[in-house]
Amino acid sequence: MKRYEFIVKDLDCAACANEIQEELEKHKELKNVNVNFSTLKLVYETDSLSKEEVEKIVKSVEPDVTLIEPKGEKIKKQSSIPEVIRLIVGVGITLLGIFLPLNNTVSSIVIIIAYVVFLYRTIKNAVKLLISSKKINESFLITVSVVGAFLVGKQMEGLMVISLYEIGKILEGKAVNKTRKSISDLMDIRPEYANLKINENEVKQVSPEEVKVGDTIIIKQGEKVPIDGVVTKGSCALDTSSLTGESLLSHVKEGDVALSGSINEQGLIELNVTQNYENSTVNKILELVENATDKKARTETFVNKASRIYTPIVIVLAILVAIILPIVNRNISYNESVYRALIFLVISCPCAIAISVPLGYFSGIGKSSKAGILVKGSDYLDVLKNVKEVVFDKTGTLTKGKFEIRKVDVYDKSFSENDVLKYVVQGESFSNHPIAKSILKHTSVDYNKNDVKDFKEISGMGLSYTINSDKVLVGNRELVGYSEDKTEETKIFVKLNDVVIGAVSLSDTVKDGTKNALDRLKSRNIKIRIFTGDNKPIAEKIAHELEVKNVESEMLPADKYNALEKILKKYNNTNDKVAFVGDGINDSPVLALADVGISMGGVGSHSAIEASDVVIMTDSIDKINEAIDIAKKTSKIIKQNLIFAILVKVIILLLSSMGITGMSFAVFADVGVTLITIFNTLRILR
Ligand code: ADP
Ligand code: MG
Repeated sequence: MKRYEFIVKDLDCAACANEIQEELEKHKELKNVNVNFSTLKLVYETDSLSKEEVEKIVKSVEPDVTLIEPKGEKIKKQSSIPEVIRLIVGVGITLLGIFLPLNNTVSSIVIIIAYVVFLYRTIKNAVKLLISSKKINESFLITVSVVGAFLVGKQMEGLMVISLYEIGKILEGKAVNKTRKSISDLMDIRPEYANLKINENEVKQVSPEEVKVGDTIIIKQGEKVPIDGVVTKGSCALDTSSLTGESLLSHVKEGDVALSGSINEQGLIELNVTQNYENSTVNKILELVENATDKKARTETFVNKASRIYTPIVIVLAILVAIILPIVNRNISYNESVYRALIFLVISCPCAIAISVPLGYFSGIGKSSKAGILVKGSDYLDVLKNVKEVVFDKTGTLTKGKFEIRKVDVYDKSFSENDVLKYVVQGESFSNHPIAKSILKHTSVDYNKNDVKDFKEISGMGLSYTINSDKVLVGNRELVGYSEDKTEETKIFVKLNDVVIGAVSLSDTVKDGTKNALDRLKSRNIKIRIFTGDNKPIAEKIAHELEVKNVESEMLPADKYNALEKILKKYNNTNDKVAFVGDGINDSPVLALADVGISMGGVGSHSAIEASDVVIMTDSIDKINEAIDIAKKTSKIIKQNLIFAILVKVIILLLSSMGITGMSFAVFADVGVTLITIFNTLRILR
């Protein structure tokens, strides 16, 4: 099925976003529908329905919205000026009605005119929806309560209600826009242009999308790197903080990779473009963040479901109040009981909840992106906050993965150290493993890549290839079947046909700050565990250094998978969650299996970005603590908003059924709650 994406222009009510989604989901031709109130994005998959047909369905729920292409057309912010003018005119007419010495009939007419001015938009909305889909919505309920108030003789009250409601809507729209903007500002890494070099003397400014692989672009001081590339000329200091959340300058020179999204702080470079914009780091990150809130969190889906039944319940209660009150208490007239019931209708929209929950998750995701932590879905924020056990991969995760060659042993005297090294290097030149990368970096052996045939990587063990019809194995003890006392070093053995001819000893060190980061995790009562494919003495040495008690070594990727499965089973019936942290090499299955898979050092590594649920752009383990902090704060604020909103609604329902509060107080409180929850949500970003 083809995936489509549109912006829902003029979507200004959160509950409507949910209603649109629900309506679209009824159509079997549409799959994976999502309406995102925070980003205004509608996505769906279909083979048969055209945009116009989908738009028609959307309009049957929300007549005022239109679907526009996500790129190109900028969303113009809806001006609130006409609304404000309408309000002022309405208030003006009302004041005339009150203060001019008019007789009753004329005064009633003036008030009716004021009602029409005030209610014009709301009534229009209500009627349109009633006709198009026989449904009642917020506008309809407000209209009924206000007109009802008029009919039971509370004309002024009705006017107060409608003006407070209108003012509230305008303020709400502003507050939501402000939040959306604060979040998108956090992620302001989209490059606007690229300086494309046409020839030696000509440079043209083009949009990043127009640049092709192989083109040369120029990045001047202060400019953003728009597309990934390799430096061909010059050198500069790149600020990668917008990608990693850490203000560290990295110096790049000829031959180095420059990642899009970073800013040239000093110097001038020319890049040979290696990726088109679509596949560049910056676009991958932006896509990921924008799509993150498309996967709704379970809390969010639950709240949506709950708010769907809220409105009908309140309406039923209102009817009961209107009918029963005068029967129970003879002092209450039907006029009065109807009025009290109408107050229920005024607060029958679950607006505060419908707005603040999605905005809350969106803020949490924005906040973590800013810190260099890409969370791929709202649900993972909920999982992160409940993590009780973290399983770490060793190589490249707890350790730097930057191995140094300690020594080369030769077991078969017909070979030299150089021969052993050459067999290793030749094979490793095809591998992406940290061991391979380090060895290639630290050796200067002459070899020919083309001699290597039948290259195979045996995940978690090493590699095999043939050269001049000799079978070569390069890897750990298990792979070559060599028994020798194990040492606290990683040893890579070379087996030529049936003989182990030598080995290369490598050493790796623990990343700086890892011990402290693990201590902080432990102080939250989180259990720590290490899984590694490396041998036991090394694993225990590292575990000892980091004071980790649970460590399992000499594991193949399948062993890691089975062991993790067992751990997950232990937590099966609890709320507690298990995270796996790896570097995306030899551990994608476990990353996918864990409740939340966290990959480290994501910047520049597309495979790590794809394999995990949370991508940490730097190498710092402490980012896991930061991610948990953000997740906890997000959830706390969402919870506060929920409790606050529900509490106020219940209080208003009670007070108004007892006749203690009037309709305008109810509107005031209801709108106030919505605004307060939006502003409270903004605290996540701080
Ligand atoms: P870890 O679990 O510590 O991340 P891996 O599962 O990636 O380690 O690898 C386990 C072991 O397999 C390594 O310690 C190494 O001995 C061997 N190995 C894996 N890949 C390679 C490779 N490309 N070259 C040599 N040895 C390798
Ligand atoms: Mg690994």
